[in-house]
Amino acid sequence: MSDHRPVKMTIAHINDTHSHFEPSSISLKLPYDVLNNEMSVFASCGGFSRVSSAVKDVKRHAYLNEREFMFVHAGDCFQGTLYFSLYKGVANARLLNAIGIEAMALGNHELDMGNGIVADFMDMVDFPLLAGNWDLSQENPDKPNPLAPKPQVLAYDHLNQHAHFLVKEVDSEPVAIFGLSIENMAAIANPDPDTFFLNVTDVAKNTVAAIRRQGINKIILLSHLGYERDLELAAQVEGIGAIIGGHTHTMQGNFQNVGYGVTDEYARMVNGTCVVQAGCNAMALGQLELDFNADGTVAKAGGVNQLLLGRQFTLDASRSQHLDESTHEAVKAYLYAQPNVRFCAKDPLIENLLNEEFRPAVRLLQTEQIAVVAEPLRHTRIPDQRGASQIAPLVVDSFVWQSRQMGFEVHFGIHNAGGVRTSFHEGPITSADIAGRLLPFAIGLMVYPVTGAQVRAALEGAIDNAIDNGVEGTGSGSYPYTSHLKYLYRCCAPKGKRIEALQVYFEGQWVDVNDEQRYLSVSSGYTATGKEGYNALVDETSEPQPLNITMAEAFEAYARVRQSLTAPPEDISLFIPCECQDDSAEGAA
Ligand SMILES: [Zn+2]
Ligand SMILES: [Zn+2]
Repeated sequence: MSDHRPVKMTIAHINDTHSHFEPSSISLKLPYDVLNNEMSVFASCGGFSRVSSAVKDVKRHAYLNEREFMFVHAGDCFQGTLYFSLYKGVANARLLNAIGIEAMALGNHELDMGNGIVADFMDMVDFPLLAGNWDLSQENPDKPNPLAPKPQVLAYDHLNQHAHFLVKEVDSEPVAIFGLSIENMAAIANPDPDTFFLNVTDVAKNTVAAIRRQGINKIILLSHLGYERDLELAAQVEGIGAIIGGHTHTMQGNFQNVGYGVTDEYARMVNGTCVVQAGCNAMALGQLELDFNADGTVAKAGGVNQLLLGRQFTLDASRSQHLDESTHEAVKAYLYAQPNVRFCAKDPLIENLLNEEFRPAVRLLQTEQIAVVAEPLRHTRIPDQRGASQIAPLVVDSFVWQSRQMGFEVHFGIHNAGGVRTSFHEGPITSADIAGRLLPFAIGLMVYPVTGAQVRAALEGAIDNAIDNGVEGTGSGSYPYTSHLKYLYRCCAPKGKRIEALQVYFEGQWVDVNDEQRYLSVSSGYTATGKEGYNALVDETSEPQPLNITMAEAFEAYARVRQSLTAPPEDISLFIPCECQDDSAEGAA
């Protein structure tokens, strides 16, 4: 009885672009006979100008072959580069519009700074945001810019209990597209506390059923769940033709021909659903060729992830040492023949947009000197034989300094080691060094009241989490660095008693922290909201207050004032590692 028709679509897709509008330099390891030795060559890869010209080409070919075309983004466009530190969602909105994105999934990094920034972003983009398991029904309507009323936000339909979805007509045959994001958003990002992420599998099943009830049998899911979860979901939920995903930065396909690895084949089929993902940082373009049967099942799913390369190859990453002409030709000939590589010119429209609106300020930032690093400042996450991080304490110090500048009488600051990303050599530093290398995550500062007992528990929890001392940790990144707060951590002590000599620097001297007393602390929004072992900091009675200033902005202001950065005179906190485990093992034997 069905009067449905088959549909042939080409879907260009990107994910996790993280504000990489500019190309990246990548090294390509080519087979022995191409270069006559084991050398690698460097190439310029990706960037939005190349993505744009590749998309135009793919679109033209799709139309020539009588295929419908669509271009989508599977989430995480925020963060990553100075373009984001400087322009937040504005540069992304302008550039995603310019390259012709037609729908986007909501990534966790879009929510690093709360709903408001996403709402501002949505006011600027020409495409819908698919966030089908995001329940905005209880969002406070009195916020300056609430998300719930925006028609471009296809969130959870609370009344009908399924995702809002998009319908694309292909020769008058409808195709439905919905989006899903990871449920544990609150644990890894900062959605406003009045908005919730619902179970992915339930929402997917209900949404597929709702779409079918409307007489539509061709369904695509745009997901920011991660590759493994996409595969799982494909196995769990019937009736989805394709899952176009992101989050794990997975580059599907075999890239051994250019010296990289293999992750499945492109467009892996699971239970009748094909799953795709296209790497990260705008380096590759995914091109899914999806043929639906009239009944909505997948007749054929194919296509490719292609690295988008420029035509110049060099021997070094800074692209100054050139290959001799015959080698250059051999490299080019080899790469031209590879199906997972596409040479593309930069689209002048995108270049113009970057040049006119964004690039000059970014270039200026990259070169302006902020301060001088007077001696090498080493970063290590967990203190080792050479001591603790010399740069992380300065970063926390900048948080305390910044919040006091803004009138908050904070007692101390706490920051996780993983939030600091580099050591510094001696010499001048620029904004690019600070926002691009030292503190690349544009996460805001928050001040919050906390009792002495909470601080004690949080420090112990964070260190246990970092060193895996009898608890399941999430890695060394949670190790705490502090300012105006010192402690001794004794690994061998019983759980709950590992923090000793906890003191706060108050009115010019160190005084014992009182477990009952309430203090005011400052951290990144990540730590202040209890991520990675810091859950003891979360207070049910009062929410942390955002300062609307990022970590990099605070550090930059602090460095400008100090002018010369030196290592802290002493490690204010002591970490006494566990030798006790070995002892007990010996005793037992
Ligand atoms: Zn990402
Ligand atoms: Zn993500």
